[in-house]
Amino acid sequence: MKTKTILLIAAIIALFGFPLVVENPYYIHLVETILIYAVLLFGLDIVVGYTGQVSLGHAGLFGIGSYVAGVLFMKLGMPFWVTVPASIAVTALFGGLLALPALKVIGPYLAMVTLAFGTIIQILINEMSFLTEGPVGIKIPKPSFFGHVTNENEYYWIVCVLMLLSLLVVHRILKSHLGRAFEALRDSPVACDCMGVSVYRYKVYAFVISAGFAGLAGCMYSYSEQYISPNTYVIELSILFLLAIIMGGRKSRIGAILGSTIIVMLPKLLDDIELFRTVAVILAVVFIILSVISLVKKLTTWQKVSVPLAGIIGLAAFSFWLENITDWRLTIFGFMILLVVYYLQDGIVGFVRNYYASLTGKSAAAAQAAAELLEIKPTREDVISLANREQKEGTLLNVKSVLMQFGGLKALNKVDLVIERGTIHGLIGPNGSGKSTMMNVLTGIYVPTAGDVVYANKSVVGKTSSEIALSGIARTFQNVQLFGEMTALENILVGLHHAFASNLLDVSLHLHKYTQEEARARERALGLLRFVGLDKLANEEARNLPYGKQRMLEIARALALDPNLLLLDEPAAGLTAPDIKDLLVIIQKIREHGITIILIEHHMDVVMAACDTVSVLDFGQKIAEGKPAQVQADEKVIEAYLGGQPA
Ligand code: ADP
Ligand code: MG
Repeated sequence: MKTKTILLIAAIIALFGFPLVVENPYYIHLVETILIYAVLLFGLDIVVGYTGQVSLGHAGLFGIGSYVAGVLFMKLGMPFWVTVPASIAVTALFGGLLALPALKVIGPYLAMVTLAFGTIIQILINEMSFLTEGPVGIKIPKPSFFGHVTNENEYYWIVCVLMLLSLLVVHRILKSHLGRAFEALRDSPVACDCMGVSVYRYKVYAFVISAGFAGLAGCMYSYSEQYISPNTYVIELSILFLLAIIMGGRKSRIGAILGSTIIVMLPKLLDDIELFRTVAVILAVVFIILSVISLVKKLTTWQKVSVPLAGIIGLAAFSFWLENITDWRLTIFGFMILLVVYYLQDGIVGFVRNYYASLTGKSAAAAQAAAELLEIKPTREDVISLANREQKEGTLLNVKSVLMQFGGLKALNKVDLVIERGTIHGLIGPNGSGKSTMMNVLTGIYVPTAGDVVYANKSVVGKTSSEIALSGIARTFQNVQLFGEMTALENILVGLHHAFASNLLDVSLHLHKYTQEEARARERALGLLRFVGLDKLANEEARNLPYGKQRMLEIARALALDPNLLLLDEPAAGLTAPDIKDLLVIIQKIREHGITIILIEHHMDVVMAACDTVSVLDFGQKIAEGKPAQVQADEKVIEAYLGGQPA
C-alpha cells in the first residue's frame, strides 16, 4: 500500500512536470491525447470490462461530446466551464439511448446495434450542417479564463487535472455498491436480479455513466485539436477503443491508460521502421526472458510458449527484412491483434498480474488448495442482524393452481402450495418433476401460464425478479450462481445492495452518508460470512472456493437480502457428510431467526431431519403432502420417487 502511494505521487509529479522537461509541443500533444483517450477508456471499461457488454458506439459518443462543445462555442460563444458539463450531460443522455438495445439484445447482436448507433451519429454530424457545419468542421480556440487564453502547456495541465478527477471518480464508482452491481450483472444476471439488483436498471446506468466520460473526453479533445470534423469519429476509432481495453487489460484503470498509450502510439510505430524494429526487438527480448524464467521454474510448458514466442521473434526478424513499413501496416496490425486475442486475453495488466501471481505461488489453483486445507468450521455466532418479522404465524405464501407450460410440456400442472410462516417446507420429487421450475416461478424468472402466487397477501405474478427479491424472497440456485470474479465478501455485499441509498454524487464525493453505509454493510457482510464459516476466506474470489463453500456463500448472500422467505434449491448436492451436518445446523439457525424456508432436497435424511411439512411433485403434479414420516410412508410417493427403497 505504501509503495503504491509513493508510485502514484511520483507518477502525478512526472505527469505535471512533463511539459517543463520535454519542451517539444508535438510530444506534449501526444501525451495530452493519451490522457484524453484514457478518460474515454475509463468509461468504456465500465461497459466492457465490468458489465461485460460490447460497445462499438463509443466513437459516436466521443463525437457527441466534441460537437456539443464545438456547437455551443460556435453558436453561443459558451465558455469552457459551460461546455464541459454540457458535453457530459448531453452525451450521458445519448448513452441512455444506446443502452435501450443493450437491454433487449446481447453478444454479436448488441455489437451490431451499437455499430449502427455509431454510424448514425457520424452521418448526423455530417448531414446536420446548420448545426455542425458538416464536413467543413468547426474551429475552436483553446479555452480562456477571465480573458486569459490558455497556452498549450496550461491546457495540458487542465487535461491532467480532469483526467485525474475522472480517474478518482471512476475508481470510487467501481469500488462502491454501483460498481459491484455492474460486475455482478456480468458474472450472473439471474443471480443479480434475484439479489434485488435490477439488471435492467444497472445496464442503463453503466451506459449512461460510460457515455458521460466519453462526453468529457470528446469535449477536451475538441479544445486539444482546436478543430473537429466528422471523419474523426469513424467506426475504426470505436474498434481501436475496444482494442485498447482488451490490450491494456479490462477492469483496470492502469489497463485503460496503457491501452490508451498503445492506440495513440501504434500509428506512430507503424509509420517509422526504425522505431518499429527497436520496439519489436525489445518485446522479443522481454518475452524470451519471461519465457525462460517460466520454463525453468516449471510454471509453463514448451507447448504453451512456443507459438507466441515464435510469433514475436518472427515479427522482430520480419521487421529487419522489411524495407519500408507503409505497405505492411495493416498486416502487422492484424497480426498483433491475433497475438493479443489468442495469448493476452486478460491484457497486459492481467498478464503481469497472473505472471506475478504464478511466480509468488499465489495462483488460483494454489488458493483453492489452501482453502480446502483450511477446513474452517462455522462459529455459529449469532451475527445475522435480521429485521423484526411482524407476524409469526399464518400463511406466508399461497401458490394457487399454478400452470407452467413450456411448449407442450406442463412442467407444473395446476400445483397448489401453502407455506406457513416460520416453517421449513420440503419440496421433493424425482428429477424433472418441476421443483426448480417452482422456484423460478416464485422468484419471477418464469411467469406462470396460469394460476396465481400470493406472497404476504399480494400477488407476485408479473413482478420482476428484483422486485420480488426486494419484497423479501431470497433464493439459492441448484447450479450455484455466484459472482465468480468477485470475492466472497463482495458477493455478500451485492446481496446487501438494498441497504444502500447513496447516489452517484454521494459515492463520487465519498460523502459521510456513503462511507457510513459502506462501513456498516461490510460489517454485516463479514458477520454473515462468519455465520456460514467463511470469514477467513472473505477476500478469496468466489470461483476459487471449493464447491461446498460456494454453496454456503450462496446461502449467506441470500440472507443478506434480509428475506422473509428463503428458497434453497438442493443445498446439500455435492456436499460431503460433515458439510451436510453443518448445513443442517445453519438451516435450523436461519429458521430460529423467523425466516420461512422452502427446501428442495434429494437427501432424504436431510428432508426428514429438517422439514415440518413436505410436498411431493411428480411430472409437474403434487402427488402427496404432509409430515415427513407420513409422506415417506405414502405408497404413491414410494412408487414415484423412493422407488421402494426405505430411506
Ligand atoms: P427438477 O428441479 O424437479 O429436477 P425442473 O423444474 O428443473 O425439475 O424441470 C421440470 C421440467 O421442466 C423438465 O422436464 C425440464 O426439462 C422442463 N423445463 C424447465 N425449464 C424449462 C425451460 N426454460 N424450457 C423448457 N423446459 C423447461
Ligand atoms: Mg431442480
